[in-house]
Amino acid sequence: MPKWQQQRSFWTWGYLSDEPSEAERRTAAERISQRFGRAVEPPPIPALADIELRKPRLRVPDRLDGWVNTDHVERVTHTHGGHPLELLAGLRGEFPEPPDAVAHPRTEDELEATLAWCDEAGHVAIPYGGGTTVVWGVNVPPECESAVTIDLDHLGGVLELDETSRAARIGAGMLGPDLEDALRPHGLTLRHYPQSFPWSTVGGWVATRSGGHYATNHTHIDDFVESIRMLTPRGWWESRRLPGSGAGPSPDRLVMGSEGTLGVITECWLRLQQRPRFRATAAVVFPDWKAGYEATRHIVQAKLWPANLRLLDPAEAEQGAGLDGTRSLLIIGFESGAVPQGAFILEAVAIARSHGGEIDDDAIRIDDGSGKATGRDGAAGAWRDAFIGVNAGLTNGLGLLADTFETAITWDRWPDFDAEVRARVGRALKEVLGDGTRLSCRFTHVYPDGPAPYYSFSGMAKLGGEVAQWQEIKAAATEAVVAAGGTVTHHHAVGRMHRPGYDRQRPELFADVLRAAKRSVDPGGILNPGVLFDP
Ligand SMILES: Cc1cc2nc3c(=O)[nH]c(=O)nc-3n(C[C@H](O)[C@H](O)[C@H](O)COP(=O)(O)OP(=O)(O)OC[C@H]3O[C@@H](n4cnc5c(N)ncnc54)[C@H](O)[C@@H]3O)c2cc1C
Repeated sequence: MPKWQQQRSFWTWGYLSDEPSEAERRTAAERISQRFGRAVEPPPIPALADIELRKPRLRVPDRLDGWVNTDHVERVTHTHGGHPLELLAGLRGEFPEPPDAVAHPRTEDELEATLAWCDEAGHVAIPYGGGTTVVWGVNVPPECESAVTIDLDHLGGVLELDETSRAARIGAGMLGPDLEDALRPHGLTLRHYPQSFPWSTVGGWVATRSGGHYATNHTHIDDFVESIRMLTPRGWWESRRLPGSGAGPSPDRLVMGSEGTLGVITECWLRLQQRPRFRATAAVVFPDWKAGYEATRHIVQAKLWPANLRLLDPAEAEQGAGLDGTRSLLIIGFESGAVPQGAFILEAVAIARSHGGEIDDDAIRIDDGSGKATGRDGAAGAWRDAFIGVNAGLTNGLGLLADTFETAITWDRWPDFDAEVRARVGRALKEVLGDGTRLSCRFTHVYPDGPAPYYSFSGMAKLGGEVAQWQEIKAAATEAVVAAGGTVTHHHAVGRMHRPGYDRQRPELFADVLRAAKRSVDPGGILNPGVLFDP
């Protein structure tokens, strides 16, 4: 069954089929009990039918009832996004702000009718892709009187393929795996793999400016966007398909990252590429963190453009790849559909070695054209398995407070930035969660002028006190990142969660420009109010 037809879980990432078994939850509970010396048990999971929801505060007009409904399961599964606290609320049966109705328009006409109804009746309209937002991007604002979630799941598909220019017109509701399945027979691929790839959509990626697996060069979805089609309450917005253009400010740039506040993206032309045949991978170990990041800087500044250049600090290299906790690990990967990659990986490894990196020659994997994956064994493979296999349902409800925050900073400020962030967040973790906390960092993306560090933290919360404890730690993290000059997010988006940092970081006049743009396309202010900026 294609992914889009599967029912989403309300307490873990993904679908019902992604939910861990009772036995797996028990094993996870034992591991946590051992780590923190506190006995924990997986809590029961409420039955969907028993979840209490506020009654719908609107009536769906008859003319829309073929695709708009107030069904209980639909409202439950569209209440929360993918942040761990939302999954926890789901597990506890807490759904205080469900959408009053959920729309699944099957055609552009049905979408037009839905948005027109919301605009006329003053219902808040929330565009919804895969619901994997981790920044509170799809929630019903508590202060609104009624809200309709518009799920784009029926507006997917590869609608047109231009093999000459290597681009495709793709429906916004298409999920990552369904897209790659459709492109594979043509020998083509988008190769945009956010960690949420199985559950997130093309429209969601563009609306949030998601970051994929390319660590250098084309890091964000932006780099693949040729043109966008979007419905606003004032009508259609469609840009011209072009490989590049210098004609004034780019209309696509205003849409990318607009997070559902300006319109509903229905289609995009995205740039594709040949499926990779030539691959090369190396996992290089460094004596410490500093040697690792200095090597990374020199590799990215040599403009070799590896597809993967993922540096793990000693803590992360220990947890994810089984190193000894003192050394850092740099996973370097090259890939191409047309050009052998051996020379590039050898050059990158030579730079890494000149900064103290260690790797045996026979551990460098070069595949010249078979199309087989490299980097599935050793430390790189161990880390990959841990990264892909992440399942929030395993530890949900056990008191483990685990989250991430990500940013970007220029190299000149990086070492001080890292020290400052670790000091402030480390202090907050200790004060709020006591002993046994972890704070680690990896680079998810790297630019010639700076890295995109991704911090993970965890510790044991008071059962029932998770939200307040998380808020304290998150506030410290946001303050540390923004005060030290970083961006409040490199790719997780702003949503409602990152507003305090975003409001400080963007020029105030730009906020006026955004508000003016919103007034032009959404005069009633119905689209995702409170996300990104106040209308
Ligand atoms: C486990 C996990 C891992 C993640 N890893 C990554 C990662 O590696 N890189 C990354 O960038 N992000 C990551 N994320 C965050 C999230 O997956 C991305 O923000 C993703 O782009 C959201 O896509 P979605 O289809 O799920 O959108 P949703 O969550 O449904 O929506 C996100 C926002 O976009 C708006 N929106 C959605 N569709 C449309 C549309 N068609 N038109 C207009 N607005 C729309 C929504 O209103 C909302 O504000 C991760 C999340 C999880 C849970």
